[in-house]
Order: sequence, then C-alpha cells, then structure tokens
Amino acid sequence: MNEKPKKLINKKGLRLDGRKPDELRPVKLKVGILPNADGSAYIEHGKNKILAGAFGPREMHPKHLQRADRMVLRCRYHMAPFSVPERKSPAPSRRENELSKVIRDALLPSLFVENYPRTGVDLYIEVLQADGGTRCASITAASLALADAGLPMRDLIVACAAGKVDNKIALDLMDTEDKIGAADVPVAYMPNLNAVTLLQMDGKLSPKEFDEAIKMAIEGCKKIYDIQKEALKTKYKIIEQEEVEE
Ligand code: ADP
Repeated sequence: MNEKPKKLINKKGLRLDGRKPDELRPVKLKVGILPNADGSAYIEHGKNKILAGAFGPREMHPKHLQRADRMVLRCRYHMAPFSVPERKSPAPSRRENELSKVIRDALLPSLFVENYPRTGVDLYIEVLQADGGTRCASITAASLALADAGLPMRDLIVACAAGKVDNKIALDLMDTEDKIGAADVPVAYMPNLNAVTLLQMDGKLSPKEFDEAIKMAIEGCKKIYDIQKEALKTKYKIIEQEEVEE
C-alpha cells in the first residue's frame, strides 16, 4: 500500500518546525574563530552548522594557476562524514565539487580581484551538520570570513532560499521540505547594491510563483544581512573592550 504523502503545512498554516511560510530559521553568526586562518566565520542556520576559513591573499601556488592581472579565488565546500544521518564518504562528491564552484562564483562579484595580481585566496567550507540550504548558509559564512580576512569588498554577500511546499511559497526550506517539496530557489544577494550573484532553481514553479519566491528569498537575505553586520561589529567591539581593559 502506498504511504500517504506527508503534509508539510498544517491546518493552522504552520510548517513542520512550527514556522510560518515567510519565516526564517534562527540564524547565528560568529567571526574570527579559527586562529590559523586570516579570516573565519561560523554559522548556525537552523540545524545547519558550518565553518568557513579564508587564507590569503597570498602568492598563488602552483604558479601556473597565477593570473598576472588578478587574484584567484579557490573554494572547497566539504561535508563532514558525520554531517548527515547516514555516514557520507569523506571523498569529494560530484555535488560537493559543483557546490564549491557555485559558491565561488557567487562570492567573486564582491571582491576587487584586480587589486591583487598573482595572488590567491583559499576558502575552506566545512559543513559539520547539514539540514537543507547548506549552499546558502555557506555563502553567508564564507563572505563574512573574507571580510574578516580584511579583504576590501563591494558588499557582503548573503544567501537564502525560498521554495514551494504543499502548493505554497515558503522561505528557507529545511531538508525534509527540500526533499518532499516541489521547488527550491537559492538566491545570493548584495543588499547595498541590490544585485543578485546566485540564482538557481530546483523543481518547477510558474512565472508568478518564481517571482514570489525570489522576492521572499531577497527579504530573507536582508534579515540575515543585519545579523552578518552585527557579527562583524561584535568582533571589533570585543577588541576595543580588550584594549580599554589593558
Ligand atoms: P543545499 O544543502 O544547498 O540545499 P542540496 O539541495 O544538494 O544542497 O542538499 C539538500 C540537503 O540534502 C543538504 O543540506 C543535506 O541536508 C542533504 N544531503 C546532501 N547530501 C547528502 C548525503 N550525501 N547524505 C544525506 N543527506 C545529504
């Protein structure tokens, strides 16, 4: 006998974790947590837990990858074997290779790569726990790690997805909603410049639903942007406080 399809939105209009359709999962961000990195950030986005470390700009090795007119950004997105309920092989999968490229491309527009010829920046993203939307949470944390490394930027990049669950457009899908839901639209965005740097779509949406999803995702990005800026300021407030105490 076929199992009854799981309801993702109940009669009160609430989702499996009690959120309203346009509600974000709780987001916490912290910068400067890896002493060995030039810049680092940690994000908890719902049940996602992700670390990002930035190294550079430094001389690019191997040299044949150097560019005479710009800095090269290398990015590795990796999910720990214990990050999902069933052990994941630690070897990079096709999905991880693709996400490494997608995340790199989403972050590049914020950087003044032409100011750092022949150098490279390495960005390592380690997903410690995954629950849907890790590419977006990774972009939010990685952009903060780049800022923490002291790289001048056009704007911080913040990312959030919206999708369709039980025929309704909803913000920030978690894993179950992503798997059972009808569509997922991750968006990366520079709020000050009002520019989108990543737009993907998994599943099917009508043009009207697609517009609604993008608008909702951008509203979500703007809320996370405030948390991002606060995380950066907090680091400098702590340094300032330590200096006063000395
Ligand atoms: P994103 O994390 O950006 O939403 P996907 O849509 O590819 O990217 O993945 C959705 C979710 O599926 C992930 O966040 C994670 O929770 C889960 N997932 C991904 N890879 C695996 C895997 N190898 N085993 C179990 N779950 C996985």
